[in-house]
Amino acid sequence: MQQGFSGRYARILWTLGLLRLLRPCRVVVGALMVPVICGCSSDTEHLSVSPPESRTVACQTGQHCSKQIPASSQRCSPRLTPRPSLLSVEDPADRSMLETRSRPMDPREGSCLKPLLDAMRASIVAHKGMGLAAVQLGVPVRVLMLRVPDEQHRIAEAVLINPVVVTRSTQMAQSFELCLSVPGGYRMTERANQLRVSYTDPEGKPRESVYRGDAAIVIQQELDHLDGILLDRDLPAKALLDEQGVQRFELAARELTENRPHPPIAEARRMLWKAHLARVWP
Ligand SMILES: [Zn+2]
Repeated sequence: MQQGFSGRYARILWTLGLLRLLRPCRVVVGALMVPVICGCSSDTEHLSVSPPESRTVACQTGQHCSKQIPASSQRCSPRLTPRPSLLSVEDPADRSMLETRSRPMDPREGSCLKPLLDAMRASIVAHKGMGLAAVQLGVPVRVLMLRVPDEQHRIAEAVLINPVVVTRSTQMAQSFELCLSVPGGYRMTERANQLRVSYTDPEGKPRESVYRGDAAIVIQQELDHLDGILLDRDLPAKALLDEQGVQRFELAARELTENRPHPPIAEARRMLWKAHLARVWP
């Protein structure tokens, strides 16, 4: 469709007016200084005085914006916008992204964090998972979320931004792991039983935490995702077990160790897993 000169001129004027209204302001979210689109009309640089959720903006001069800025109205680039569904290794384009090393999250992108975390939480809950990396929703930044039940079966949620492993135990734990991006495939893994991780929390504070047991195993799978490493790495699809395969495997491991001091259950699992791989992958 074509437009006359006056129509184009009016559209340019309208766009310039809109750009003026959408002038970016600087807002502090926790320790993160992030640009957001502010509804203020003054030229003053703005500072947030409220928790990140409400996004109320105040000017440096003490003058307040009349509007609250809902998180959903902030503009995040498409590369930081989560997809509505999980990436799966069954789709070649998804697999290619899942095998990409995620880049560190820039503190200036902090305003895009809340929609990303909301989508990650919703995805974990919907799929009854225990952890997720941002790349599994098509956002290749180094952000992961854990939702692992504690001893009282309460869900403890943790968000780790730009995590780095400080130390890991030499004691290993074996378990069958399932990945939400590798449908129907369990793999027996051997991972450190405990690790200390440094990271930035969603408020921008540097932190260090120790993870043990299930949380340590889950976090190691999510850390693998950040480096583009998938649960089915170096394995043919037929080496992965389904749920019944895992049950049969565990039954065989228990039978091997029943009423005998040796081999211990971990050793029995290792032997059976080796035998399984030799069968399907000679
Ligand atoms: Zn996974």
